[in-house]
Amino acid sequence: MAYTPTGKHLIAGNWVASADTFASSPATGPSHTFSKGTPALVDQAAKAAEEAFETYAYSTREERAAFLEAIAEEIDARGDAITEIGSQETGLPEARLVGERGRTVGQLRLFASHIRKGDYLDRRHDEALPDRKPLPRPDLKMVQRPIGPVAVFGASNFPLAFSTAGGDTAAALAAGCPVVVKAHDAHPGTGEIVASAIDAAIKRCGVHPGVFSLVHGGSRDVGQALVQHPLIKAVGFTGSLGGGRALYDLCAQRPEPIPFFGELGSVNPMFMLPKAVATRGETIAKGWVGSLTMGAGQFCTNPGIVVLLKGADADKYVETATEALSAVGPQTMLTDGIADAYRKGATKIAGTEGVRSVLTSTCDLRNATPYLFQTTAKDWLDNHVLGEEVFGPLGLIVIAESEDEMVAMARSLSGQLTASIHLADGDEALGKRLMPILERKAGRVLANGFPTGVEVADSMVHGGPYPASTNFGATSVGTLSIRRFLRPVCYQDIPAALLPIDLA
Ligand code: NAP
Repeated sequence: MAYTPTGKHLIAGNWVASADTFASSPATGPSHTFSKGTPALVDQAAKAAEEAFETYAYSTREERAAFLEAIAEEIDARGDAITEIGSQETGLPEARLVGERGRTVGQLRLFASHIRKGDYLDRRHDEALPDRKPLPRPDLKMVQRPIGPVAVFGASNFPLAFSTAGGDTAAALAAGCPVVVKAHDAHPGTGEIVASAIDAAIKRCGVHPGVFSLVHGGSRDVGQALVQHPLIKAVGFTGSLGGGRALYDLCAQRPEPIPFFGELGSVNPMFMLPKAVATRGETIAKGWVGSLTMGAGQFCTNPGIVVLLKGADADKYVETATEALSAVGPQTMLTDGIADAYRKGATKIAGTEGVRSVLTSTCDLRNATPYLFQTTAKDWLDNHVLGEEVFGPLGLIVIAESEDEMVAMARSLSGQLTASIHLADGDEALGKRLMPILERKAGRVLANGFPTGVEVADSMVHGGPYPASTNFGATSVGTLSIRRFLRPVCYQDIPAALLPIDLA
């Protein structure tokens, strides 16, 4: 059943058109006309969110859990239509959209069960000590409370799991925070149909309609007005380093600065230790190629850099990887802009001193084939550009002369979402040298695996030191991500009748 977008914004339960429009730019299928967002619409959405906060922040955990589950059901009910328009707009295969929808509804249901358990509230109680000398102690209770309306920027590379009803929205709604989404221009129709699912769940559950609004883009001032709006109290963002940094700076410059939880760039280095390469280098090389090219390399955890120790085993690794990459056909990229940035990134790397082109790409319009480059650890250490993310299926193999050089590379890395080590018997000593360095650099450290395919779980950390994210103490995936939208409040000697429901 095909879905034809209305092209309207959803502002607190009302579908609203604006005078100016923009045309969507799907990879396949028809283009549609969408209303452009405006700062005035952002203002309406933020004010409605603040009004909704007055009741939603005081709803029971059971009410919010039922609401999250209703959103999941409404998304599933629109499943085929979401897959169709999502696939047309992004060029991602239908199977990927189906899988991503499963992940999206899974996240909503996971947060429902997470808040029902209540552990996330981290409730504490220091009982009053009226006879304590020299001073009595008051009764102190602490609980995590929702922070207020949250802005969410839909991600280009996850049209469902990190967009309208994705991880950021699910975490904020679970916490008790209303959400204003800035839809991504790369998939506005997908955003609209998912917004209609949330709207239906709001009506079914009798939730205040201001709890959710979706404003289309089409103009940069939408996102800027959103992060600067005085009623917005935090921002969830997945996207580019440049865009994320610009919005982060705006948040910091506000009269009341607010947290900007930006998930930005990462090259996700993989350190291939010598015994592992000697014993199963071929298998690792093929696995790396699979991870590097998955989804046309458009994952934040894409492992763009491999570090090897110089020698015949490293040469064999390069040979196997080149052969496997040569067999990867063209894949459609998410937008013309992303395809263009991919070509420019590759050109920059190819032109950097000490870099050898092993495999060049015939990236044409929105299609991409892989690139493979090789360099030495010395040249990598001398050229910072080689440590920057190129979004797409581009791999860089770095050959270190010695273990010390490998360790020096680890030390000079900027913040990463992930860092991986492949090791076998006999590699432990080098592994032990690398681990304390890598755990300071990355939000997630892996052994003998590939970083794409992020589990949505209690222990997951999808974040890391800047520039992987703008807030190294947070994760944007997994149940811990709810903490971004909560703040601890201490209640001193407050009578039970006045305490929040979770403390009463
Ligand atoms: P983007 O350009 O950062 O845009 C993400 C969102 O932020 C869009 O809604 C965009 O609005 C908005 N935005 C960006 N800069 C802004 C500014 N200065 N003021 C106001 N709003 C702003 O990212 P993208 O479109 O998803 O992809 C572009 C590049 O981002 C890719 O080539 C890739 O390098 C990187 N990327 C990285 C990841 C990752 O996970 N690490 C994920 C996706 C993309 P507009 O659409 O109006 O510009």
